[in-house]
Amino acid sequence: MWGSDSALNCAATHVSRRGHHGGSSHVLVSASTVRWQWHCHGHEWADFAPGHAVSIEGAFNAHVATLHLNISPPGWSASNTPLTQGAAQYTIDLNQMLQMNTTSGFQRRIRRASADATEAWSWKDDRGAWQPYEVHACGQLSAALRAGWSGTVLHAGKSAYHVDFHRLEQLNTQTGKRRPVARQVGAHVSAAGLPQTHSNALHACVGHGAHSSPVLGLPVAFGAAPVGLSVGSAASLFVERFCAEEPIDLARATGWRVLLPSEWGGDERVDAISLEALGEGGQLVVRLPCSDPSGSCIFNVSTLEQSLGRSGKCPACGHAYPVRGPQPSGCMRASVHPRPCAGHEASSSIELTYAFATGVQRSQHPSEGRPYAAVERRCVYPNDAVGGAAVMLLRLAFRRGLAFRIGDSATTGKSGVVVWAIHQKSRRDGGTTRHGWPDGTYLTRLKHELVLAGIAVETVEAITERAHRAATSGNLEREIASDVEMAQ
Ligand SMILES: [Zn+2]
Repeated sequence: MWGSDSALNCAATHVSRRGHHGGSSHVLVSASTVRWQWHCHGHEWADFAPGHAVSIEGAFNAHVATLHLNISPPGWSASNTPLTQGAAQYTIDLNQMLQMNTTSGFQRRIRRASADATEAWSWKDDRGAWQPYEVHACGQLSAALRAGWSGTVLHAGKSAYHVDFHRLEQLNTQTGKRRPVARQVGAHVSAAGLPQTHSNALHACVGHGAHSSPVLGLPVAFGAAPVGLSVGSAASLFVERFCAEEPIDLARATGWRVLLPSEWGGDERVDAISLEALGEGGQLVVRLPCSDPSGSCIFNVSTLEQSLGRSGKCPACGHAYPVRGPQPSGCMRASVHPRPCAGHEASSSIELTYAFATGVQRSQHPSEGRPYAAVERRCVYPNDAVGGAAVMLLRLAFRRGLAFRIGDSATTGKSGVVVWAIHQKSRRDGGTTRHGWPDGTYLTRLKHELVLAGIAVETVEAITERAHRAATSGNLEREIASDVEMAQ
C-alpha cells in the first residue's frame, strides 16, 4: 500500500530503542547530523531519513511551526518517482511535536533525538528532588531555547509534556500536573543527562521569574537579527521575533518624570483614572510628557502600569507612547516568492509567515492564566514600493506588539484566541472584498491604522518614503532586510 502510513513500517533499519543512543556530548552537532524520530509503537521510535531530518531541524531552528514533507517508502528514490505514486504527504507540527498524514489524518508523535544539549535540564519530583531529563530531551530543550521558542513539547510514554521556558515549568498536557523545571548553564552533561556538578545555580533558578534568575539568560535568537533559513527555496528577507514575557520599561518608553509630594500638591489630589489618592500606599507619582499643555497627565505608577501596558496611550489625553502592545510571543518571517500579486504583475511577491506557539495569557492579555492555542498565518504583499512599505510598516507593528492580539475570533466566534489587530492581505488575488490584491487604498488605510494604534505619524511617513526611494533605485529587498528602525 504505497502512499499509506503503513508504508513507513517499523521494520526499517533505522528503528532504535530509547536509551540506546545516550552518547556523551558537550559539542554542538551540525544540522546535517541531527536526528529526528517518529513514534512507531510502544517504546520504538524510527529515524527520519537524513534529508528530512535536515529540513525539520532547519524549520525548528528558524522557529517555523509547520512544514510539509513528501516521504517516499523505503527503497523508493524521490528523484525518479512521481510524487503521486510513491510518496505520502505529511504535515510536521513543531508546536505539538506531531506529524500528520495529510491524506489519512493519522497522527504520530515526533521528537528530536540528538544528545547535543548545551545545558543540564531537570524537573522536580514530588519529594522535592531534582530528576534529570533524558539526554535527547535535554538536546531538544536546548535547541528550542536557542531558536527562540517559548517552550517545547516532549513525548514520554503516552504522555506529552509542555516545558515553558519563561515559567520554568513542565505541564503534563493530559493530567494538567505542573512541575518546576531547572536549567543549569555551563554544566557538563553526562550520558544520563545528569549534571556532574550540582551547583547552587541549579536551585537558584527555580521559584523566581525567568528574568530575575541569574542563570536563565535570554537565548541569542531573541534578537532581531536575520537567521539563515534552510526551508524551501524562497529568499528570506528577515525574521522578527516578539517576546511578550520581557518586562516593559515604562519609564524609558514614556520619559515620565517622578514628582515630589510638593509638586503634585499634597494628599488631597486624586489619580483621575483609579480615583485613588496620589501616592497611595507610598507608590511613585509621575507626570507623563504628553502634548497636553495644562500638564495634567499626572498618575500613580500603578495606574500607568495597567493602562499603558494594555493600550500604549496616556489614559487622560490619549497621547501615544512606543510601548509594547498586547501581542502574544511569536515570530514573523518575510521571504520573496516569484508569483506576483494581482494588479502588480511586474513584481514578484513578499510572503509574511506569522507563527505563535501555544502559551498562557499574561497580565497584558484579556484572561491572565488562561492558555491559548498555537496559530500560524500567511500573508502576501507585492514586491514593489507599495508592498515593500506595507511589509516594513507591519514589521514595526509586529515588533511593537501591535499586529496581533488575544481576543474573540470574528469568523469562528471562539474566545481567547490569537486574532488580527491590523488588517492584512491573505490572498494574491480576489481584491478588497476577499482580503486580497489589487487594493489601491490598502497602504493608505494601513498607515492610518498604525497611527491609531500608537505609531507616530512621522515614523510611518519616513518608513513609507524609505520604501519608495529604495524601490526607485532598485534596492527595495536590501532595504526591507535592513533594520526597520535604523537611523533615517
Ligand atoms: Zn496625557
